[in-house]
Amino acid sequence: MNELLHLKQHPGTNPKSFTSTICSAEVVDGDTWVELSDSYFYPSGGGQPADHGYLENESFSIPIQDVKKRAKLLHNIGIIDSDLLLFEGTVSASIDIKRRNILSRMHTAQHLISAAADELFSGRTIGNQIGLDKTRIDIGIEDRSKFDKELLEQLVNDGIEQQISVTMGLEHRSSLTSNPLVRVNLDLLPKNVEELRVITIEGRDICPCAGTHVSNTKEIGEIQINKVKSKGAGKLRVEYSLL
Ligand SMILES: [Zn+2]
Repeated sequence: MNELLHLKQHPGTNPKSFTSTICSAEVVDGDTWVELSDSYFYPSGGGQPADHGYLENESFSIPIQDVKKRAKLLHNIGIIDSDLLLFEGTVSASIDIKRRNILSRMHTAQHLISAAADELFSGRTIGNQIGLDKTRIDIGIEDRSKFDKELLEQLVNDGIEQQISVTMGLEHRSSLTSNPLVRVNLDLLPKNVEELRVITIEGRDICPCAGTHVSNTKEIGEIQINKVKSKGAGKLRVEYSLL
């Protein structure tokens, strides 16, 4: 199974459990990675860590510790006696909802912060690492004297208070090129992908993205920028938490 079913879901919060079957298993560096017939698990990528969760049936309950997209979508079930997997039938797969919801809130906050940094300081997001406790965003700013942490935090928290809807849709890339709310360089996306999964925070940001998000900015809750540090000429690292 190579299809990333999470891409069809929005919002990316409170994912439902689903039934699936284990198609294959392989051992890499001592851990067993399984392929499922269907999977809504988010694989690590784009700065967002993978979902965790469980595979269960009458005879076992196995934690999923990591998920990655390679030629197949693979789920790390740790050091498991492979005999345990020798059965036919369905398993119930559940995604760790608490973890997913925090990551979706953190990730949607990242869109708001990146958009606000662009609006306020012409700052361009050049990387991010989303976490459960804290998230960091690297922002390129030509004139760093323009940067104002309080102003950035205020504009983001205003967007959260305004309860703006967050929607997902498929858009042709040509329809995005001249929209000022599109802040990413579309030329960096694979040229052969014509239709893009786009996340829109109404009036604030439009971003092609494969991550998981909330359905309204109010679900993020207030954010706090904890640290801003220099990462070399024209580059700042902004670290924030959810309150
Ligand atoms: Zn996103």
